[in-house]
Amino acid sequence: MTEQFWDKKNETMPLKELKELQLKRLKKLIDYTSRNNKFYHERLKKANIRSSNIKSLNDIEKIPYLTKQDLRNFYPFGLVCTDLDNVVEVHASSGTTGKPVVGPYTKNDVELWGDVMARALWANGLRRNDILQNSYGYGLFTGAHGFEKGAQKIGAMVITISSGNTKRQINIMKDFKSTAVACTPSYSSYMAETAEQMGFDPIKDFNLKIGCFGAEAWSEEMRKNVEKRWGLVAHEHYGLTEIIGPGVVSECKYKRLHINADHFLTEVIDPNTGETLPPGEEGELVFTTLTKEAFPVIRFRTRDLAVYFEEECKCGRTLPIQSRIKGRSDDMMKVKGVIVFPSQIESALMQVRDISDYYQIIKTKKGDITSLSVEAETSLERWKEGRIDELEKQAEDEIFSVLNLHVPVKILQPNTIPRSTGKAVRVVER
Ligand code: ZN
Repeated sequence: MTEQFWDKKNETMPLKELKELQLKRLKKLIDYTSRNNKFYHERLKKANIRSSNIKSLNDIEKIPYLTKQDLRNFYPFGLVCTDLDNVVEVHASSGTTGKPVVGPYTKNDVELWGDVMARALWANGLRRNDILQNSYGYGLFTGAHGFEKGAQKIGAMVITISSGNTKRQINIMKDFKSTAVACTPSYSSYMAETAEQMGFDPIKDFNLKIGCFGAEAWSEEMRKNVEKRWGLVAHEHYGLTEIIGPGVVSECKYKRLHINADHFLTEVIDPNTGETLPPGEEGELVFTTLTKEAFPVIRFRTRDLAVYFEEECKCGRTLPIQSRIKGRSDDMMKVKGVIVFPSQIESALMQVRDISDYYQIIKTKKGDITSLSVEAETSLERWKEGRIDELEKQAEDEIFSVLNLHVPVKILQPNTIPRSTGKAVRVVER
């Protein structure tokens, strides 16, 4: 039997030992950041935190949260905890909602990143003989680089094709016999559509067996669609520029998301009160990086909502588990008093046969009142067949059954919603 774990010792360590390791590393982190960065020095001093008064992991609650605003205030290198001469690589978020978040890495940080990504890809089933088509956009964004580092560490062949130029992607995928693909889930579905338009059968004419997807919120239903279309097993990847990029959480073959908790400490908090919640309750994820050098964070509020569990998994990993992300608290919409996440609408739409993977949620604001409607594409056959009003009604009923809210749905003919080669635009404001 081939080895199941990339790093057996750390992935299967008894939980008690793991927590002792986390505590030891947390204390070290407090000394390290306080010694090497002015912001942390002052903040920890003000809260009267020294490593000597951190007796248990719960004592972390005495440290104030770090927010995205703090990161912006110290743009670009104000939170770096090492001499800039030690930084060998820098990434940044797109910065669509303000100044970008900058992620600097030392040599050791780059090693760590490659290692947690190797864990993640190994857990997905990637091995030396695999050929990974890396269709995340290369650039400042962490995605493509993280997947490249992890796959190369395993010894797989990486095709550094980046995103876009989709017909060329398809030809390369066929000629090079790619066995795995890394990209956003929406781009994988666009690639399948393009392959079909080029006259190929995505299942018969290609060798894909593993999909490594992330960087956007997607539903279980969307996962099933993508798996069916390509005949592959689709795995979720979760990470953030603020933490390390992808590699924070890896999905095992039972599709459970294991947190690489020896390096990243997770808390879940009530997003409104900031209170820490016990395992099993849904709240905002807060991360502390335990071993990073250039840009460690202590109690970073992600605004991502999920549930944290500590329980055994059939795969043998003892690493704690997080649920899939319900959405960013920023994406949350309040419509007629009902809390709505785009992923909930997606999962309702995907229940309806004849609705394709392409949809948009239209948000209209009149004064303080937000209303929603949905535009979704159907297949060409169904469009020709007609009875579109029936399809609309069916989709509206599905959404109602999930949200208890009437959201009007308009069915469009194929190829009317813009395709994306990166993160799909699911919500538009009109
Ligand atoms: Zn598992």
